[in-house]
Amino acid sequence: MRHDHLITSKQLSRGAIETVLDYAAEIDADPSAVADRHADTLLGLLFFEPSTRTKMSFETAMKRLGGDVVDMGSVDSSSVKKGETLADTVRVIEGYADGLVLRHPKQGAATMASEFVDVPLVNAGDGAGHHPTQTMLDLYTIRENAGLDDLTIGIMGDLKYGRTVHSLAYALTNFDAQQHFISPESLQLPREVVYDLHQQQDGTGIKEHDSLEEVLPSLDVLYVTRIQRERFPDENEYQKVAGEYQIDADTLAAANDELTVLHPLPRVDEIAPEIDETHHAAYFEQAHNGVPVRMALLDLLLSDDKRIGGDSDE
Ligand code: ASP
Repeated sequence: MRHDHLITSKQLSRGAIETVLDYAAEIDADPSAVADRHADTLLGLLFFEPSTRTKMSFETAMKRLGGDVVDMGSVDSSSVKKGETLADTVRVIEGYADGLVLRHPKQGAATMASEFVDVPLVNAGDGAGHHPTQTMLDLYTIRENAGLDDLTIGIMGDLKYGRTVHSLAYALTNFDAQQHFISPESLQLPREVVYDLHQQQDGTGIKEHDSLEEVLPSLDVLYVTRIQRERFPDENEYQKVAGEYQIDADTLAAANDELTVLHPLPRVDEIAPEIDETHHAAYFEQAHNGVPVRMALLDLLLSDDKRIGGDSDE
């Protein structure tokens, strides 16, 4: 895989991740230093699925680097409605833009699309697959709040369809984190992901649970996710698990006082609003970190003089 496409977090080494996080911290401290770096750059946004944070923070990031975006807009108003293939759409839009950001409901769509274009393509979420730029801002927020060394993290909710979970779990193997996965049985991590994680981390740091209670006191970070209703083939199956694994102030009474609560957002009912005002809540900060992190990523991917680097295993 070329390093100037960003498709999964599996392709990133610890060194590559640290390059991005360090650069994002530099930008965060002084965004004006990079305000003109991409004055002539246009980023193509192709979102075949709803998005608020990812799309708007990519747009903000590109504009804060001095560039601009061209946006395909909604699927309903594009030629996709006339039956155009994804391969044709990306080949057309790469002629208008210097880089592409793609979100698509089908797992594997970004890998396929990247094979048709020469400009850097960033996967902004492919179905239940991966969401590597979310992972970068998750890691950035974890590093700021709890540190990435000796980390014990609980990842809870829809681990089957949650693409942010898959990307984060792979990335965390670079840091030998102790990862506790908490979900109902029907929403456990896909077996192939568990297998990969065991391979990458000798299985030592990976544990699965059906209850938060037993692990909560040991956690530095609790990463809560939404049940991905739109990915359930059967609404009845969704109803069976809807509303499970909610946290409120009572739940957190048993937590470590230093616990950081994260969520990729949007939340439905997984985190009670009363937690927002506590020192545990870092999910809005996490969403805001999307801008400096995506500025760093875009600059690294779109500049001739910079590279993310690191080893690729794909
Ligand atoms: N915004 C995240 C995603 O696109 C998380 C979610 O939708 O639950 O995957």
